[in-house]
Amino acid sequence: MNAGATSSYVSAWKDESVLALSETADKFVATEITANRERWEQQQYVDRDVWLKAGELGLLCCSIPEEYGGGGGSFAHDLAVFEAQAKHGDTAWGAGVHSGIVAHYILAYGTEEQKLRWLPKMASGEWIAAVAMTEPGAGSDLKTVRTRAVREGGEYVINGSKIFISNGRMADLIITVVKTDPEAGAKGISLLGVEADQTEGFIRGRILDKVGQHGADTSELFYEDARVPVDNLLGGVEGQGFGQLMTQLAQERLILGVSSTASIERAIGLTTEYAKTREMFGQRLWDLQNTKFVLAECATVAHVQRVFVDSCIQRHLDGFLDGTSAAMLKWWASENYVTVVDRCVQIFGGYGYMREYPIARMYEDARISKVFAGSNETMKDVVSRSL
Ligand SMILES: Cc1cc2nc3c(=O)[nH]c(=O)nc-3n(C[C@H](O)[C@H](O)[C@H](O)COP(=O)(O)OP(=O)(O)OC[C@H]3O[C@@H](n4cnc5c(N)ncnc54)[C@H](O)[C@@H]3O)c2cc1C
Repeated sequence: MNAGATSSYVSAWKDESVLALSETADKFVATEITANRERWEQQQYVDRDVWLKAGELGLLCCSIPEEYGGGGGSFAHDLAVFEAQAKHGDTAWGAGVHSGIVAHYILAYGTEEQKLRWLPKMASGEWIAAVAMTEPGAGSDLKTVRTRAVREGGEYVINGSKIFISNGRMADLIITVVKTDPEAGAKGISLLGVEADQTEGFIRGRILDKVGQHGADTSELFYEDARVPVDNLLGGVEGQGFGQLMTQLAQERLILGVSSTASIERAIGLTTEYAKTREMFGQRLWDLQNTKFVLAECATVAHVQRVFVDSCIQRHLDGFLDGTSAAMLKWWASENYVTVVDRCVQIFGGYGYMREYPIARMYEDARISKVFAGSNETMKDVVSRSL
């Protein structure tokens, strides 16, 4: 049972096959990922072979149909992998972007040729994928991206730059948000698949030094007359990019909902264990009423959040998760994540500020969740439009 979940509660989306995959993912993260954490934090990216091992075990692109090399499951299977990462405190391995976001852009909008060209390599882990939307001058207001793609014969010539791109240093395929018609606002945006090795003029910049999530590769990318074949335009029609990005948002927000919830449960578990062993004033830290009250409040938040995220997942699997609920989930789950971890750090005292304690790493890692995947203010804006 997860800390914060009551004993009689079972997540309905975790059927037998999802539970089996959860178990595989759990073992994989505990062995292949946890063991490398320190080294990855130093180098600021994960080793390529972890992707290949994950591919062999069927942990990548779980919800992509088998005909494209995927696992043939539902999005619940992907979520089981992302949840396993959070249960073990992993924020380094960019599987969420790869399997949960990029693979679904290709599946939903790619031409048959693009699906056959890109998805099998992503499912095997041979190729790592990224999505490059954000620019130094365009984050929340995506319509203002300036990276330009100009068609010249059978190619697009791309010029511009991207920032904060997860998997950017390692990615073989970067779905890049470009303006194909700068006069047309959102309707002038398109998504281009940039195959890194094939693309002269595609240049990787720095891996950025972050407050937390140190093992995650978050990079700058530059396009200097980078030429890609017109066949790499996602879906083959210009001007569809903004709609393509927006349509996938509800599903993407489930990733953050699930990982925040599992992280909250982890924080409560770690803190309860610590409080029950730490002695002070002739008793355990746990025996002080404040400790029990704080953890009881956190456990209640965790349980309510688990029920809400499960309801969103179920609605998504049934095909009718609405954008408002997904936005509510994203802002609320990440807000709770940051707050609960902060309260847990307080219970650890000075040890909670030492990086050798996992709760301190969680404190660093949690903060960005209120900003990325759509800032929480943007989410509340979406919610307010439904009122
Ligand atoms: C670790 C990390 C990984 C990332 N991975 C990727 C990736 O893989 N691909 C990618 O394209 N991008 C990625 N990003 C970028 C991320 O999506 C952006 O940081 C985010 O969208 C916010 O954009 P910005 O940083 O430019 O902030 P801005 O857009 O400048 O926003 C600043 C602040 O303005 C406020 N604000 C924004 N909108 C509103 C509103 N409507 N109402 C009121 N206030 C508002 C919020 O407080 C917001 O935090 C990543 C970022 C980080 C830090």
